[in-house]
Amino acid sequence: MRNGEVSYWWQAQGGFPARRGSLPGSTEADVCIVGGGYTGLWTAYYLAGLRPGLRIVVLEAAFAGYGASGRNGGWVTAELPGSRARYARAAGGAAGVRALEDALRSTVDEVGRVCAAESISCDFVKGGRLSVATTPSQLARLREGLAGQRSWGDGEDIYQFLTGDETRSRVNVAGALGGLYAPASARVQPAALAAGLAAAAERRGVEIYEATPVSEIRSAAAGESGAVACTKFGDVRARSVLRCTEGYTARLPGLRRSLLPMNSHMVVTEPLSEAAWAEIGWDGCETLSDEAHAYMYAQRTADGRIALGGRGVPYRFASAVDHLGQTDATTVAALTGVLRRLFPAASSAGIAHAWCGVLGVPRDWCASVTYHAASGIGWAGGYTGHGVAAANLAGRTLADLVAGETSPLTALPWVGHRGRTWEPEPARWAGVHGLYALYRLADRLEADPAADSRVRLGTALGHVGDMISGIPH
Ligand SMILES: Cc1cc2nc3c(=O)[nH]c(=O)nc-3n(C[C@H](O)[C@H](O)[C@H](O)COP(=O)(O)OP(=O)(O)OC[C@H]3O[C@@H](n4cnc5c(N)ncnc54)[C@H](O)[C@@H]3O)c2cc1C
Repeated sequence: MRNGEVSYWWQAQGGFPARRGSLPGSTEADVCIVGGGYTGLWTAYYLAGLRPGLRIVVLEAAFAGYGASGRNGGWVTAELPGSRARYARAAGGAAGVRALEDALRSTVDEVGRVCAAESISCDFVKGGRLSVATTPSQLARLREGLAGQRSWGDGEDIYQFLTGDETRSRVNVAGALGGLYAPASARVQPAALAAGLAAAAERRGVEIYEATPVSEIRSAAAGESGAVACTKFGDVRARSVLRCTEGYTARLPGLRRSLLPMNSHMVVTEPLSEAAWAEIGWDGCETLSDEAHAYMYAQRTADGRIALGGRGVPYRFASAVDHLGQTDATTVAALTGVLRRLFPAASSAGIAHAWCGVLGVPRDWCASVTYHAASGIGWAGGYTGHGVAAANLAGRTLADLVAGETSPLTALPWVGHRGRTWEPEPARWAGVHGLYALYRLADRLEADPAADSRVRLGTALGHVGDMISGIPH
């Protein structure tokens, strides 16, 4: 089994991409984007389309798609990155939340549209999203969640309840008792999307400099306009500097307690046999998850494998990040166990590759797209694991904000959203590890339907976890 090497997705692309040059020296630009993941690249792509004359420079510490954008589960999903109730506190109220959700749903199609228009071959298939309940407690949670969706006005066109039989006829998950199906979700090969997007931005004239870590973003000196991104190769002075560093943000000066770098880990099988696929089904390529507290997410890859992810070691002390996605043996064993439990037909297939990455989690679990025209500094991120589609919407929104366009996107409730900062260490580490220990215990207790009291205790512990963390459901 390969481990790390950034991700299976990059290795399936033939290895790391050919490296672009580093920043050749100090320079001036109209817009400087820090971070070459989906957020930075989509922002650059749309801004270059909106204002073709601008000089747009992307500074990337490693290579475009090195971060979560080249490692994720490949769900382009309309899932709201945050809590409806919290977004509803913004000026737009509940209508603003609905507008954000509508925008996220149409974003799934927008990603597909650009992939087709720019000939980005990333295995985009819009097969919807299926969340499966495999215990009575998960089924109760799924129904409760659906009642919540209905109370916000989501009809059958947005969420459909599936019986156990209906669920298994889509994807034969062992022990499936029911499912929730949402059509607004697509599957992609994440690194292929990142690579294609970087090339599409370059075709629009965007300059991407790699192996160029930014050490600081600051306002320009008194009497000068704009902002500065500092690197060891020189500084980029620009009217606008946009921080698009999601899970890596805490490493920049002054931002240690802003976005928590939450780990997510993945494994991918060897290609399954035709007989195994005949048993499993999954012909619609739905993006798949379960309703566990420490949930799993999965996709059927275009090359006939199952890629499955979950939390594992949730967080590294003092917001440290992984080295090239190397992941620990205990997490690999746990994810392999989940995979074999849910897909007995895949039991004989070996695990080909394991890796991990970091995603950005704000303290209130609500994402933000922010731009201060006066300082020229902006940022977007904090998508809490739902960043693939959200980064496209955030990129279009940042492009409008930087261009000074007032649009329906710039009125969405995540624009200018501010949450509080995370607790200092060691409370941050203890809190996150304690929370996921609680979730794992809750899942274990709920998995024993013969013992009613254990199940009730498990569900209660899960609720306690949600209350402590503020994770929205
Ligand atoms: C394993 C995993 C699975 C996931 N699965 C899904 C999923 O299926 N669906 C979904 O919607 N979301 C998923 N996510 C989350 C999603 O991938 C991210 O939210 C999204 O890719 C964030 O994009 P980004 O561009 O903001 O950040 P990133 O892709 O992390 O990009 C940030 C970039 O900034 C660079 N950088 C950082 N600091 C600096 C600096 N100082 N100077 C210069 N460059 C810097 C990094 O090298 C990196 O390339 C997953 C995340 C992980 C880790």
